[in-house]
Amino acid sequence: MTTTIAMLRETRPLLDDLVAMKETVWCNPDITSAEEGLRYSGLTRRDVQSAEQRLTRFAPCLKQLFPETAAAEGMIESELVDIPALKAALNQKYGHAVPGRVMLKKDSHLPVAGSVKARGGIYEVLTWAEHLAFRTGLLNPHDDYSKLDSDVARQCFSDYEIAVGSTGNLGLSIGLMGKKLGFRVTVHMSADAKAWKKALLRECGANVIEYQDDYSVAVSHGREAAKHHENTLFVDDEHSRTLFLGYAVAGERLKKQCDEQGIIVDHEHPLFVYLPCGVGGAPGGISFGLKLAFGDNVHCFFAEPTHSPCMFLGVYSGLHDQISVQDIGLDNHTVADGLAVGRASGFVGKTMARLISGYYTQSDETLLSLLGDVWRHENIFLEPSAAASISGPWVTAAESAKSFSAQQLAGATHILWATGGGMVPQAEREALLLQSGQ
Ligand SMILES: *Cc1c(COP(=O)(O)O)cnc(C)c1O
Repeated sequence: MTTTIAMLRETRPLLDDLVAMKETVWCNPDITSAEEGLRYSGLTRRDVQSAEQRLTRFAPCLKQLFPETAAAEGMIESELVDIPALKAALNQKYGHAVPGRVMLKKDSHLPVAGSVKARGGIYEVLTWAEHLAFRTGLLNPHDDYSKLDSDVARQCFSDYEIAVGSTGNLGLSIGLMGKKLGFRVTVHMSADAKAWKKALLRECGANVIEYQDDYSVAVSHGREAAKHHENTLFVDDEHSRTLFLGYAVAGERLKKQCDEQGIIVDHEHPLFVYLPCGVGGAPGGISFGLKLAFGDNVHCFFAEPTHSPCMFLGVYSGLHDQISVQDIGLDNHTVADGLAVGRASGFVGKTMARLISGYYTQSDETLLSLLGDVWRHENIFLEPSAAASISGPWVTAAESAKSFSAQQLAGATHILWATGGGMVPQAEREALLLQSGQ
């Protein structure tokens, strides 16, 4: 590995910046048209449509299980809001004004799990539940799925186990959903996982196994343990297409929200989206859905901590999951616990290789400071991982100016994908805001 890295450094100058933990922006030279990139991905529009249909079938059941979803008829979706005060403050902070509209996508406040993981994680649990319900005769295809909110169904699902490795939020979303349906749930938590997330999971009856190691170790232990159990589904964040498709549904839904809010997206009005990236499933799946919905008019950027730029490193080096941030001397210890992943998903890196416009890194200090800015100016609390999306339009502005005309940039919309924070307890919030200098 040492010789490989020495060779890579000769042809890939940004590697030195990653090693030095400098905040870095890289625009992907291999980007292709959406059509070509999507074709190369191996997944299709139909796959995403069938995921949306499955979620629609489950909506009556979710509405009953989680009253907070009743207003949206059992659909788990978040608001898209303007953030004028934050935009003005960041124009000041960065010393240049970003033209166009800047909006926040509040997955931080998604029902049930309070993070982006309420998309993929819940979808994978529902997919398995549906499969088992058909197989055991609990459900017929034309039934009302609220039937699954019953003691008979819970009794049946208690014969099955769902296991997952997580830095916190994926475990939370799978645990909360899985337990509600009556499954046994085991969550393998990495050392980064917050105590309150583990406590909440134990409270709802999940079995939490703690590791002193990072995310990759927790996942491989979980995967190994699940192999020996029949009746166990291991939700594999590094490889799962189901999880990915659960995230991808966000694309068409965002398009609908844009239509409703009069946001035009076309060649003269490009859409820029900034997504925090850990292992890659959430930002990858969402970007996939966005490319299906908006084609060449959407431009997706992945944001990572300087301590854990695993996807940036994997794609930039071309080694994908064959290289980890530890291999280049980084510690993978970051305040952005949801992004504390040392090795990216090879599946996502390769699937999305031609569809992502760029990658950037942010230091822990920047993430905390941005978290403070969002709180101070918009009164919205985000967890540090989600804050990685916030600076996107400003840190990529110089690069965007090379590829887009002033007129296009004036007509652009930027969406900062706020991926988590809604469930962070008060004491934790105060501690983070204190660290942010607020
Ligand atoms: C998990 C997570 C992400 C990134 O998702 P990946 O699928 O790991 O890339 C971003 N933000 C938050 C808050 C998360 O919990």
